[in-house]
Amino acid sequence: MKINHQRMLKNFLEITKIYAPSGDEKNMLDYAKKELTKLGCKIYVDKAGKKFGSTAQGNLTANFKGTIKSAPFILGGHLDTVTPCKGVKPIIKGGKVVTDGKTILGADDRAGLAIIFEVLRTLKENKAKYPPVDIIFTLCEEGGMYGSKYLDTKIIKGKEGILLDSESNEELVVNAPKAVLFYVTIKGVASHAGVAPEKGISAIEVAAKAISMMKLGRIDPMTIANIGFVEGGQGTNVVMPELTIRGEARSRTKGHLERELKHIEDCFKKAAKMFVKKVDGKTIKPEIIWSTELKYPLLNIEPKSPLITHIKNCGKKLGLNIKTATCGGGFDANILAGKGLSMPIIGIGYDNEHTTREYLDIETFFKTADLVLDIVLNYKK
Ligand SMILES: [Zn+2]
Repeated sequence: MKINHQRMLKNFLEITKIYAPSGDEKNMLDYAKKELTKLGCKIYVDKAGKKFGSTAQGNLTANFKGTIKSAPFILGGHLDTVTPCKGVKPIIKGGKVVTDGKTILGADDRAGLAIIFEVLRTLKENKAKYPPVDIIFTLCEEGGMYGSKYLDTKIIKGKEGILLDSESNEELVVNAPKAVLFYVTIKGVASHAGVAPEKGISAIEVAAKAISMMKLGRIDPMTIANIGFVEGGQGTNVVMPELTIRGEARSRTKGHLERELKHIEDCFKKAAKMFVKKVDGKTIKPEIIWSTELKYPLLNIEPKSPLITHIKNCGKKLGLNIKTATCGGGFDANILAGKGLSMPIIGIGYDNEHTTREYLDIETFFKTADLVLDIVLNYKK
């Protein structure tokens, strides 16, 4: 059983022209729905698009029937692209697909979608033994992973698979940090700075004290923390009554993030205590309002797990030396991990993504399709 590389390339050149930036994925959703239906999939579109305001109704999930009894293997990618993506003109040049320089290519992530379509086509045409395949195509991955955040997995029966959405097919991302946003409001006490500064408590002074005691930046090899926004003040003649701070912390190790957030919160509370004072016989003190919000959960798949071993072994047969990797950003894979799905990310041959210099390396693209076919064919659980 072999992938029809030329047919897949033709399909890629066709779908990369479909206009579907983040939040406006209707065209690509319609195409993918039609294609998966043609391949005999049972499809389900959730309501995610409505929740964050896309022209598309929602994420597309699908079941592709297998010929053996097994848990389904999941294949995933995203339907949206970054901009500029209007009027993409793909050009084949020296083993690569490039653009005319006016738009992105959108191989991120159309090359992944083309591979998934072709793998399913190949399975369907050959009367071989293969497990069922579940498919997850998300919206708005590039725009903040809003699709996966609202993904309804009700028809997804598999628990593990791969996301096709990165550069090198010898790199498998298994670990990416959890990220938490933190918000702090420091309420001081206003006072006329020119007449009675001693009657006020300056919120910025409390903040400065707290931050001077705080460990920020790289906390340990796996953990970082950063303050990104500071807002406050009413006038140059007013002791600053209120200040808000927004920041985020990330960690690739379980537990370290919680410890760092506690440290940041404690510094604000400790500093606030230092500014308690008596004014006209009354005690005044600053108030700290602290809250956090999960940006995305931890992706942490054991490199020695059966899934990773299986992917690596399939790579070996094709001459690929697949290594597990860690990455600093947040992906759909993080969000899916939070929903109980183990999906490492494999590269598909694009490079310079998110720029008009984006290209697809055709050989890597072909080889990744061979790899994905082999991974699916030999999966049984
Ligand atoms: Zn992508």
